[in-house]
Amino acid sequence: MTEKTYQETIFSKIIRKEIPADIVYQDELVTAFRDISPQAKTHILIIPNKFIPTVNHVTAEDEQTLGRLFTAAAKIAQAEGIAENGYRLIVNCNQHGGQEVFHIHMHLVGGEPLGAMLEKK
Ligand code: 5GP
Repeated sequence: MTEKTYQETIFSKIIRKEIPADIVYQDELVTAFRDISPQAKTHILIIPNKFIPTVNHVTAEDEQTLGRLFTAAAKIAQAEGIAENGYRLIVNCNQHGGQEVFHIHMHLVGGEPLGAMLEKK
């Protein structure tokens, strides 16, 4: 089976500020910006600055970077005023996970009750 190849996505352009996005946080490892099509009152994407297409491509070398997704999420949730009521962090992988943009991203969603984690079958 031939290995699928992945190219940088629009998210790399957002990191480099080549295209506009509502960036709420950026440091040397991660960038966070508001989702263009929010699924809740607060919907922010937190992404590694390094191009990693899917969770299947994660290696031990990425542990510090991917850990930063969580520390950024905690800071952003505080700044957005949603930390105490709570929120959900979601990372989709490939087709069954519903991944559409092939640059790993953590969705931070909240600002209102979110309901069941998955649609009931
Ligand atoms: P996925 O389905 O891959 O987990 O999520 C991709 C997310 O990226 C979607 O929620 C979609 O609305 C968001 N998105 C796609 N393109 C852009 C864009 O150009 N700008 C922003 N801010 N969000 C985007």
